[in-house]
Amino acid sequence: MAPVYSIVVPLYNEEEVIAEAYRRLTAVMEQADGAYELILVDDGSRDKTKAMAREICERDNRVRLLSFSRNFGHQTAITAGMERARGQAIVVIDADMQDPPEVVLQMIAKWKEGYGVVYGQRTQRKGETAFKKMTASVFYRFLRHMTDVDIPVDTGDFRLISREVRDVLVSLPERNRYVRGLVSWVGFQQAAVPYTREERFAGVSKYPLRKMLRFAGDAVVSFSTKPLKWPRMLGILTAVSGVGYLIALLIRALAVGVDQGEIKLMLGVLLFVLGIFMLALGFVASYISRIYDEARGRPLYIIEEETPRDN
Ligand code: UDP
Ligand code: MG
Repeated sequence: MAPVYSIVVPLYNEEEVIAEAYRRLTAVMEQADGAYELILVDDGSRDKTKAMAREICERDNRVRLLSFSRNFGHQTAITAGMERARGQAIVVIDADMQDPPEVVLQMIAKWKEGYGVVYGQRTQRKGETAFKKMTASVFYRFLRHMTDVDIPVDTGDFRLISREVRDVLVSLPERNRYVRGLVSWVGFQQAAVPYTREERFAGVSKYPLRKMLRFAGDAVVSFSTKPLKWPRMLGILTAVSGVGYLIALLIRALAVGVDQGEIKLMLGVLLFVLGIFMLALGFVASYISRIYDEARGRPLYIIEEETPRDN
């Protein structure tokens, strides 16, 4: 019989937390009013995560394992888990227990009230570096300013979605998936459950700066075309001021002759303009590289192992 709830847990090198995550999630979900399945998505871990997940699977038939052939990224892991989910309500939760599993029960209560999306909203973040908190806060607000989609601030991927919403989400073909943005984009009735983001149970963040930047880039490129319009504005600005400057120079040269100092100044102006030009090219490149990525149409992920192999 299909479960009522599906819990999707992405895992990347989480050997230190997987046992605890399993223990806590099981304790919470056994209190829920319906059957559940736990979908562990191993995102190409290189430590013992996969072996440990396999062991849990063999012991507990409510648990399923999906293992990628390499690291495809957090958002892809979440997507794969959603695709496999059979429940009527699907919850995505990180393995490191920063998002307390107990909150899931509150999310379920909201879902029963008729909300299609119930997202966890962080009122506080514990045990994260000031840098992480600051960049996250600035980023969420910047993104909000950039896009037309109403993406709630301070909200990660810890959320519950209904079967209906899940069906829409998995049908979206895009590859550069900023899942939390897509969830906002699909609409439906959405509710927030506030919670305090705890410290990681063990281990370190699997989001180095490089991944964070890529993630932020995906978010902006998937939900806004504003950066594509900036070069035009910058172009108008620099062109107008350039023409003004040239006219001034010409008048001066006619009146008092050419001044050597101004040639040096010109070099400065030239470098500045070239810089802006390159920057604009960079913005455009961000979009083109993602278009290229979409056009190649390679699969989103490759599965190496799936237990059990039933659907
Ligand atoms: N994760 C993943 N693939 C990755 C990076 C992270 O599946 O490439 C998982 C990770 O195991 C965790 C969740 O995504 O369950 C969130 O990662 P993390 O806690 O490291 O991020 P942070 O909380 O520091 O933003
Ligand atoms: Mg974390």
